[in-house]
Amino acid sequence: MDKHKEKQRQSCVQRAVQHIRRNRCGTASLLLLAVGAVILLLVQSGGVSWLTDAPISQPGRVLLVTAHPDDEVIFFSSSVTALHAAGAEVFLLCLTSGDAHGLGQQRVLELEKAAQALGIDRDHLTILNDTRIQDGHHEIWEQEYVAGIVAAEVDVRDINTIITFDPMGVTGHINHEGCYTGVRYYLTVCRRQGVDCPAGWSLTTTEELRTYSSLLDILPSALESKGSEDAAMYTNHDLYGMFRAMSAHKSQSRWWKHVLVTRYTFVNTLRRITPLVFDWTMPLPMPDLARKLPSSQVPGQAPRPAANPQLESNVHLRHEEVSEAADRRGKFMARLSRRIIKSRTHL
Ligand SMILES: [Zn+2]
Repeated sequence: MDKHKEKQRQSCVQRAVQHIRRNRCGTASLLLLAVGAVILLLVQSGGVSWLTDAPISQPGRVLLVTAHPDDEVIFFSSSVTALHAAGAEVFLLCLTSGDAHGLGQQRVLELEKAAQALGIDRDHLTILNDTRIQDGHHEIWEQEYVAGIVAAEVDVRDINTIITFDPMGVTGHINHEGCYTGVRYYLTVCRRQGVDCPAGWSLTTTEELRTYSSLLDILPSALESKGSEDAAMYTNHDLYGMFRAMSAHKSQSRWWKHVLVTRYTFVNTLRRITPLVFDWTMPLPMPDLARKLPSSQVPGQAPRPAANPQLESNVHLRHEEVSEAADRRGKFMARLSRRIIKSRTHL
């Protein structure tokens, strides 16, 4: 009986070896994966001087601005896990509940679990359910309004580093681009004030070949990030946490195949966001963006109708106060924007 089992086991192993020999593509993939894993180990062990993470200097309290529940895992898990490993505190502002297909309620709960798996505390998480910022490929967000929300969040959380998408948004999704334009607008107004502004960083979108190079993309990423104050690179420091976080997004399981093969799972490269250029001599009013917004001082007006009223009980954490503050700041920034455009027209 034992001999029979032994024979069966040997034939299993032989079959597997024969299968790998026949399937050269599979063998090559396995080899490349192994090489990539070695590179990741080298980066994180610090064994090779030029092949290490290139961190943001003094990230401190970091605000990650995303558009949908799952963005934080699919695109930013490398940054989040590396920042945690470096002792930074990470806050997540997700601008929608991901309700484009009516799954908002479920996706909010999934995001809460996923954030926890990535080490983001529940009270470090803000998910909005706002009529003016809707999830969808055709939803264009006002940059002034998003900037107002970011400003309120920065004030309340005492943030000194913001990370978000770049203008291409990795996938080209218009909501990802909306995150970038909102953050850039906020940084522009903040800098114009002359106060101490947070540093803004965007996740670099790479071309397709690099995107699907998985772990191997760590090498070119390390080379392009070295020696520049405006570039940073983070490798994933908690792959197990990332897998648990992705597993929490049950409604998004179709994206697993991308998570397993794209570079973003294993490495993030970030670029410093350059504020908009405008006429610096124009006398513009200065909003008091540095002022803290304690919740007791937020006017207790009735909140605007939510994008999905069913979500109101689940979408939480200062949603109303952030939205109210954003509304006030959004209006101010809209006025400011008009004056900037006016000043450009005169030039
Ligand atoms: Zn997204």
